[in-house]
Amino acid sequence: MFLYALNGLRFMPKYTTLQQIQNDLQAQQLTLHELVNYYLKNIEATQDLNAYIEVFADEALERAKSLDQKFQENSENVGKLFGMVISIKDVLCYKDHKVTGASKILEGFTSLYSATAIERILAEDAIIIGRVNCDQFAMGSTNENSVYGPTKNGVDPAKVPGGSSGASAVSVQTDTCLASLGSDTGGSVRQPAGFCGIIGFKPSYGRISRYGLLAYASSFDQIGILAHSVEDVAILLETMAGADEFDSTASQIPVPAYSKNLNYSQKAKIAYFDVALEHEGIDSEIKTQTQNFIQNLKQKGHTVEAVNFDYLDYIIPAYYVLTTAEASSNLSRYDGIRYGHRSAEVSSLENTYKKSRTEGFSTEVKRRIMLGTFVLSAGYYDAYYGKAQKVRRLIQNRTNEILENYDFILMPVSPSPPSDIGKSLEDPVAMYLADIFTVQANMAGIPAIAIPIGKHDSGLPIGIQLMGKKYKEEDLLSFAKNVL
Ligand code: GLN
Repeated sequence: MFLYALNGLRFMPKYTTLQQIQNDLQAQQLTLHELVNYYLKNIEATQDLNAYIEVFADEALERAKSLDQKFQENSENVGKLFGMVISIKDVLCYKDHKVTGASKILEGFTSLYSATAIERILAEDAIIIGRVNCDQFAMGSTNENSVYGPTKNGVDPAKVPGGSSGASAVSVQTDTCLASLGSDTGGSVRQPAGFCGIIGFKPSYGRISRYGLLAYASSFDQIGILAHSVEDVAILLETMAGADEFDSTASQIPVPAYSKNLNYSQKAKIAYFDVALEHEGIDSEIKTQTQNFIQNLKQKGHTVEAVNFDYLDYIIPAYYVLTTAEASSNLSRYDGIRYGHRSAEVSSLENTYKKSRTEGFSTEVKRRIMLGTFVLSAGYYDAYYGKAQKVRRLIQNRTNEILENYDFILMPVSPSPPSDIGKSLEDPVAMYLADIFTVQANMAGIPAIAIPIGKHDSGLPIGIQLMGKKYKEEDLLSFAKNVL
């Protein structure tokens, strides 16, 4: 299943779960130092895909050495993520390391503190191997909107890997790390995972602290996980989740031991939307494979039923009004004065802002800031922002109503396969419309997971998405593991 074409070479990830790595470490068939070296070699071999912005080679090797030593002294001494080597999207703060949101406006900026999620995985002895590319400020679905240039899909380098956490997906796909942390505001973890043939998971809103995550649209943003296995998603989630005094939107609800509860023995009740599968924009292979997957679930004894959902075509307009509004406010902090890039040609306060922002932000980011400023402006606020908030409430209510009668909602991840590199830049609206199946989970704040189910004739992966009840990640993860 995990075969990838890469530079004409087909290879298989050496490890697909942390447990396999820990077994080899325990049996002394592997040292962490060797493992980091192995991943570094793969980073080198896949450089043309442009996934890594920065590789933390020396410090990762050093940390591996000292963890090897700690383990040798007493194997009980190491944390539960001992052996976990991960990459991080360039929107997560890691103390004393650069973070730029793939934008020129944060050129040269170094994090003063680590995101809570990062601190928690480091405390359990994970190793961060590098910082990976993404769409600028996580705005985009193709990883082409980056000051570092596009990241390419490891299955076919002429295709996009999805976005905005495109390089996170590629870094896992091409075996340069075991897992990656991304962010998901409208599908940015699930869609690239689907395009790259791996697992992508977005928790409920508030499950993981957003402290130290560069803000795009704060009422939607969540840190998410890209990995080969549900087990690894579970162990990373339980490490990062939970209350945080630095983020008042992080939930106080206790965090279950997800990785210890991955058995799902009962029969599930699953809803899907006819309007989604019959949507005019859906690719025929994606439709057929989704239908086959539904048949499979039925054969296994699960109940899968079509339900009404009248709001599908309102999801994208409402999402783009709300997220651009939030982005216009969040991105106002990048002014050429406090952080990163300042234009060299400034002569007054006003043109410091203007020139620095003109030079620092990409076209896509500027488009969204302007759109967001417009929908919030006096005279238009009620017509756009106020209205979109009402639509969001309707979508939330209907989603929760469905989840009162069903355990999960099933959806394709994307209506279309990965596009050719360069194409989405010509038609941003077409790109926005392709988010149709992933945005609902962010609108409703519920957890969602993308899992690989097959391939197009072209060899490009196809994923399926499952959404679950808010804060019931344990059910979603255990069911996903069960059906994989
Ligand atoms: N493609 C969506 C957007 O551009 C989602 C991005 C995300 O989830 N960060 O807004």
